[in-house]
Amino acid sequence: PALDPSATVLVAGSSGLVGSAVVRRLRAEGFTSVVGIRSSDVDLTDARATLDHVTSLRPAVVIDAAARVGGIAANDAEPVEFLNDNLRIQTNLFAAAHAADVDRLLFLGSSCIYPKHSPQPIPESALLTGPLEETNDAYAIAKIAGVVAVKSYRRQYGRRWISAMPTNVYGPGDNFHPTRSHVLPALIRRFHEAVRSGAGEVVVWGSGTPRREFIHVDDLAAACLHLLAHYDDPSPVNIGVGEDLTIADLVALVADATGFTGRIAWDASRPDGTPRKLLDVSRLLATGWKPRIGLAEGVRSTVRWYADTLAEPG
Ligand code: GDP
Repeated sequence: PALDPSATVLVAGSSGLVGSAVVRRLRAEGFTSVVGIRSSDVDLTDARATLDHVTSLRPAVVIDAAARVGGIAANDAEPVEFLNDNLRIQTNLFAAAHAADVDRLLFLGSSCIYPKHSPQPIPESALLTGPLEETNDAYAIAKIAGVVAVKSYRRQYGRRWISAMPTNVYGPGDNFHPTRSHVLPALIRRFHEAVRSGAGEVVVWGSGTPRREFIHVDDLAAACLHLLAHYDDPSPVNIGVGEDLTIADLVALVADATGFTGRIAWDASRPDGTPRKLLDVSRLLATGWKPRIGLAEGVRSTVRWYADTLAEPG
């Protein structure tokens, strides 16, 4: 059944990349009662504050896009905070949603919950079948606990709550930090700046051979609303586009989108990471949803957004 557009929908993490896109999508689809929680409004690591906020709001639907997130460097430096804050945020939010009798809740995890040596493309059934990538195991364990919590609320209390695992997400509102961001925003920033400054060379990391999958955040937001309307199963569902590309091909796409025509140098001292990360999206496709934003088009529009919104005027 479609979601009722007059239902109160609570989006936790509404200032983040994913949460802000979910709020935009809900408003575009005519939802009249959309409430965001930003970390500056309500501290979701505080159980009492979370319970008070959610029970006074009494939403019909909760979308949990709130998390402490970061790249490999941040995960490596602060594993205690990545574990504890993410466990607290989801535990508090789920307890509050249960107390408020929330019928539909979507918990967003991450593809890093899957074992390091998963079959490619990675099916949902790979969960808990092997050791994790160690650089972000604290974050992954917290997210796995969230998936188990959702299943447990379903089993014990009959809640129609679900979990989804997005692949690498990009788009407006991403983290464009020069060294601590993920590959796509890092490349957009570096190539844009090179074009601005007239630099003849851009340095990129690794060998260029690893393969990655990317979904535009507006597609992810659309998938989330589709799943809330059409998916009701204890197993998490992967959200991806079903195809990947090499980092070298990605670099070429970003160079093209920014108009960079100079030389590209590969810094082999930087790590490649895992050779391939692609989600099996057959379960998602079986629900009748598919992505619409191709990578070349999505990169072009994100480059435009970056240039208009974040780049230093030059
Ligand atoms: P991963 O998917 O967890 O490995 O995370 P990243 O998005 O950080 O990196 C993906 C791939 O892009 C790796 O093979 C990196 O070596 C490569 N890469 C190339 N240039 C960059 C860059 O400037 N920043 C980042 N983060 N990765 C880069």
